[in-house]
Amino acid sequence: MPGPHTEAIALLRDLDALDQELLALQAELATTPVGLAERRSDIAGASLARDAIAEKLAEHQSRQRDHERDLEGIEGRQKRANKRLEALFVAEQIAATEREIGQLAEQRDEEEFAILELMEQIDVLSGQLASANQAITEAESSVSSDQAVWDGRTPVVQARIAALQTAIEQLTPTIPHEAMKAYRIGYDNRNNRRHQGVTLTEGVMCILCRTEIPARWVNESRNGDGIHRCLGCKRVLGGAAPKSEADEEDLDET
Ligand SMILES: [Zn+2]
Repeated sequence: MPGPHTEAIALLRDLDALDQELLALQAELATTPVGLAERRSDIAGASLARDAIAEKLAEHQSRQRDHERDLEGIEGRQKRANKRLEALFVAEQIAATEREIGQLAEQRDEEEFAILELMEQIDVLSGQLASANQAITEAESSVSSDQAVWDGRTPVVQARIAALQTAIEQLTPTIPHEAMKAYRIGYDNRNNRRHQGVTLTEGVMCILCRTEIPARWVNESRNGDGIHRCLGCKRVLGGAAPKSEADEEDLDET
């Protein structure tokens, strides 16, 4: 035969289910846009870093062009010096021109070396730029598609929240005052990791905070003979937990 508090405990379990769904949806509504905004700001940061790479690459390419121009100039002077050399007969002039040709060859080596070094750096920077661009494109497409999903889901979540709030408003006045007070204590307990007014028992253990509860309370709660609260998390004992549910519950820190 059901005890005098059976119905009150059943109503609290109904309220608990509504409250838990409401809290989850409210959290989703609050955190999803923040998460999307954070991802967009990460992309903006990545774009700035990408622009810096592009700027460095352009600067290296411009330096490479300068060196190539210098190299062309040196090559022109080498050609002219060699031509002049063929027409010279005076030993001093020949020696001076040969010195000039030697200097030009050194300068040419330096320019070629500088160009090679720049080409290597340009290669590295081009690779970095390509992978930065690819990462940004992928992140943009992923955040856009998640945003579209969220835009579609937002009104659904909002409507469900409104429906839950109405259901809670209608249910609450039907719950006996003492039961409601007991529920509130557990729900508002700041030591709990989350708002929840009802817990279940597994043996003599609270499934949410793993505190051991007097066996008499456990039995009275199961039979509806009394409204008791867990000694640890202060939540109302709502009866025995189904075996599988108990395994899935994560622990509260109390
Ligand atoms: Zn507990």
